[in-house]
Amino acid sequence: MDNWSFENVDKLQPVAIKQLQSIVQKKRIGHAYIIEGGKGTGKVKVMQFFVQLILCENPIENVPCETCRSCKRLKSTNHLNFMKLEPDGQFIKRGQIDDLIHEMSKTAIETGRKIYVIHQADQLNASAANTLLKFLEEPQSEVTAILLTDRMHALIPTIRSRCQHISLAAMPQSLLKQRLIEEGITDSMASTVCRMTNQVEEAINLAKDEHFGLARKSVLKLVEVSGKNVQDALMCIHEDFGPLLKEKEQAEQALDLLLFAYRDIVAIKASNVAVCTYPDMIHYWKQVALHTTYEQLSKQLEIILHAKQNLHKNMNRTLMMEQLMLNLQGVFTFV
Ligand SMILES: [Zn+2]
Repeated sequence: MDNWSFENVDKLQPVAIKQLQSIVQKKRIGHAYIIEGGKGTGKVKVMQFFVQLILCENPIENVPCETCRSCKRLKSTNHLNFMKLEPDGQFIKRGQIDDLIHEMSKTAIETGRKIYVIHQADQLNASAANTLLKFLEEPQSEVTAILLTDRMHALIPTIRSRCQHISLAAMPQSLLKQRLIEEGITDSMASTVCRMTNQVEEAINLAKDEHFGLARKSVLKLVEVSGKNVQDALMCIHEDFGPLLKEKEQAEQALDLLLFAYRDIVAIKASNVAVCTYPDMIHYWKQVALHTTYEQLSKQLEIILHAKQNLHKNMNRTLMMEQLMLNLQGVFTFV
């Protein structure tokens, strides 16, 4: 097992950890669990905590002791009562489940409970799922299954209903932002990427991605020039946005960034600075907020959302951005 610390996993998933501690403390360990949560929610770490706590010979205040033989064996990955399964290629296959069942049904060398973990359990192919289901339907007294998934609905209902569910919460934005700042990412960039994803790794990659940095800068420039004359605005579309519009995904990201800019301005107008996506722009946003009405801002948000819809209709993206720009400016003449 990888190294994890109780402090980190408890900070990440306090509710699930309490739930699991209570199960072990009351000695009500069930036959099958599903731990469900998106990427970055710490599924594997929560599972490791649970397994180690169940097998620990001497837990201290519901936390594994880290020093007993069982804890040490788990950390060095050769605990005889613990087995894990991962997809072999795209799927988890029947043969893998057969081997697993064989291992779990053998007379134990070690005393105590046996635990098996299935990573990406949603990747069980049909035949493997049915074999596993039969095994789950005849629970062995001292065997516990833990299935991990980020797509609960992809598991067959009969398996889902055989398991107790532990749902992991998405990482709170404030915690994610703190993690990013610890990684050396600036406060402004951390605030922005937190709005794009709630997964640590993805957020770090995004923050370090040159293209994303460029998109962020171009979007901020666009907001600034949109308040000026049409020529400058169109120039910005062609020069700065040209490279951002080549791929649909990137164009969509740019529109999201633009949307967040206007949401910032609305939030600042309502004096709610805490949710800012671009803290480095607060000073400027305040000026814009002063000179723009709620009606105008809400119209501008609508225009951006409309452009996002058009993106999926495969319109010419440069034309679409030009139109977007003219519409954003038009708001000031209509109202
Ligand atoms: Zn221990």
